[in-house]
Formats: sequence, structure tokens, C-alpha cells
Amino acid sequence: MKRYFIHTFGCQMNVNDTNRMSEVLAGLQYQPTPVAEDADLIILNTCSIREKAEDKIYSALGRYRQVKTQRGALIGVGGCVAQQEKDKILKKVPYVDFVFGPDNISKLPEILDKVLIGRARVVETAWVDSEEYVFPRADPESSRGRVTEFVTVMKGCDNVCAFCVVPHTRGREVSRAFPEVLLEVAALARVGVREVTLIGQNVNSYRGGLGFDQLLLRVAEVPGVERVRFTTSHPHDLSDALIEAFRVQPKIASHFQLPVQSGSDAVLKRMRRDYTVQEYLERLAKLRAARPDIAITTDIIVGFPGETEEDFERTMQLTEAVRYDNQYSFVYSSRPKTSSALREQEWGEIPHEVKVERLDRLQKLQKKIAAEINALHRGHPVEVLVEGRSKTDPAKRFGRNPQNKVVNFDGDAPIGAVVEVQIDRTSVGALYGVQGRTLLAPTIEISEAPLAPELCAVA
Ligand code: SF4
Repeated sequence: MKRYFIHTFGCQMNVNDTNRMSEVLAGLQYQPTPVAEDADLIILNTCSIREKAEDKIYSALGRYRQVKTQRGALIGVGGCVAQQEKDKILKKVPYVDFVFGPDNISKLPEILDKVLIGRARVVETAWVDSEEYVFPRADPESSRGRVTEFVTVMKGCDNVCAFCVVPHTRGREVSRAFPEVLLEVAALARVGVREVTLIGQNVNSYRGGLGFDQLLLRVAEVPGVERVRFTTSHPHDLSDALIEAFRVQPKIASHFQLPVQSGSDAVLKRMRRDYTVQEYLERLAKLRAARPDIAITTDIIVGFPGETEEDFERTMQLTEAVRYDNQYSFVYSSRPKTSSALREQEWGEIPHEVKVERLDRLQKLQKKIAAEINALHRGHPVEVLVEGRSKTDPAKRFGRNPQNKVVNFDGDAPIGAVVEVQIDRTSVGALYGVQGRTLLAPTIEISEAPLAPELCAVA
């Protein structure tokens, strides 16, 4: 039997695409190996959101060259860099055998035929029309043994944020029909999954026959589902209806990832984000009124072209005002084909050392706020869905609270149970405590050890 290894870069959408690739390859009688050196087929599932991510891909390709030389392994490049660079990858890296975009995962059998039988190097990066796009179906059996799982509900993005490559690499928005989503969630719940995260590049603009608020409410009603999460969102789709869903349905977990990107209206305008800071804050205030314990996290780009010190100070002030539970902050990096890349000179590039210094200041402030917010849990119980052994200390259990914070605790609760944990210690990134009463028993018995080996490395 032939073996494959997939190296996954980037976001959860890519991790999900890797799972779909694995299912297609299983149908071709390939089996996974956790070691690239043992593989007959190596696939890099790539990310192009930042320049650094793209550099990592070329350096990984350099490492896998030896496997090609020694065992004649086939090497393929999928994901966003594949979609963006197309045949340029074959020109740049002569030992890559095939390149395929995110819409072409189901064509892997034909691609491999062309490579193996036709001895051709192949590029498949055509978009599939919205009407014809079929969302790859997950095999629920591959989720047996997990208590949390991701479900793709839409793909692509119709927005035109100036810095973003997603519309170029993932195409226009396509939503998955809601009955199909509900069937998949029900199948996952039957194999023991209790928390589902609905994912899409711009998930709250979902239009699969229901509004996104209605989809969340319907998913929350699926028997066996205890928590529903979603990622990632655009502030302009944070509708009153979505806020209302948070007010009426406690199974929608108390966490909202709401990317603001900058605290300056001038920068937001150049970024083509169609809200002001004031409007963002007003939406957030409504959301917090509906769900007072909600954790808010965000994305920030530091050093967008033309960002002045005053603009950056506004981002610092916004961070203080919102008191985010966490921020994913990065320095601006120019991406091909984006409108900001074309106008950097006109708006004014920010020197690298200035960007790095600003990022450092912002991250220090955010760490202080996150530590203060987490410290408020000390001496109080939190509700935890048990996911398994703690990654940092296998003698302890690990799970997350509704605010999506990692909780490591002493106890013996089975995987899939929902328990109270009394918090006695906190850090910037986690809560620690001791197991208390059981709130919900698991729906099925789940073994301690992972059922399958890790299929891929994630960068
Ligand atoms: S909404 Fe998100 S995915 Fe869409 S263009 Fe803007 S940043 Fe990119």
C-alpha cells in the first residue's frame, strides 16, 4: 500500500481541506504516514495570507526534495499559494509534480493518474462555478473519538479588503445548503462530538437557505450538541438577528472572534473595511448587553501603509477600551494582487523596524489585559467540556470553557463530559484548577488514546 504525508500550513479551513484530501486518498488505497521520509506522496497544503507563510513553504519544499531523490516520492502543492502561483510553482521548483487549487481536491485521482500514467506535470486551479460547487462531505467515522469538530458551511469571500488575498485564492462566496450542514452535524453528534465550530472565510455572511443566525439556532437544536462556535466573521455582518441568537440560545458559546484590523478610521477606510471604530464599538456593546460573559477576540494588522503614530495610538486605545480576551496581531505584509500592494508607495510604506516596535507595544498591552481578564476567574468555577489529557502535563485533564479558554485541571472526568472546574491559578493563555461536580456525562464512551496517527504537520 502506498503512503502519503500532508504538510498543512495556515488556518482551520486548510486543516479541513487536508481532511478532505485524506479521504480522497483513502479511496485510492493510500494510507497516512506521520513521517515524510516514508511517504510515496507528499502534499503541501499551503497558505499565502502572509509573506512569511509563503517563504516557509518554499523552505519545506527544499527539505522534501531529498525524499524525492531517495524514494521517488511524488510532490504536490495545494491550497492558497497553489491557486495564486499556478504554473509558476512548477517553473520555480522543478521537482514539484503537480499543483492544485482548493476547488480541485476532488480531482486528485485524475491528477495522480496524469502524473503517474501520463508522466506529465499537472496544474489544476480552475474555479468551480458557485452553482456547481459541491462541498466535500466529511466521513463522520473519521471524527469518532473527538468531542469537538469543524464543519465547513461556506467558502470564499465577496469582500474586497485591501490587504487580503482570500478573494484571489478562495474565490467568491458559496454557502452550503442548510439541510446538508444539519445532516453532517447530526452524524457527528452520533459519534460523540459535542461541540461544533462552523467555519468559512466570512462565515456570518452565510446564505445557504437560512440566515446565519437561524443556522446557528438550528445547529444548537441537534440532539447531542452542547456547544456551537463559528469563525471567522466580518463586523458588518454582526446583525441584530445574530445578537438575538446569542441572547436566546445558551448553547451558542460565549466567544466572538470579531476582526477589527485597526483602531483608526483613516486606516480602516484605506483597508476598505466598511465600518468606523464607533460603529464597531456600538455593535460590540449590543452583543455584550445580550451576552454579558462573552469573550471577544480580534485580528489586528500593525503598520498598514500610511499608518501614522497617531493611527497606531488609536489601535492601542481601542485595545484598552474593548479589553480583548485575545488578539491575533501581525505586521502588515504586502501580498500580490491586493489593492494595498499596488498603493503602498502612494500611501507610504512603514519601515520594518517601526512596524515591529509597534507590534511589540501592542502585544505587551494585550498580554497584560488577557492576564487581568483571566485572573478574574480565580476562586470561581468554570464549565469545561473535557477533551482529553493536558498537553503540558499528561497527569492532568484538559478542556475549554465556553469562552474558548484552555483549562488544565486535576481530575478524572471522562472525555466528552461537561464538568465544573474550580480555578486556582491563571496565566495569559490558560486557566488551571481542580475538577468539581459533573454537569453532563459523555454521550458515548471515548478511548483515551487518539485513534489515528497524526496525518500531517501543521505550520
Ligand atoms: S472579509 Fe476577511 S477574507 Fe474577506 S477580504 Fe476581508 S479580510 Fe479577506
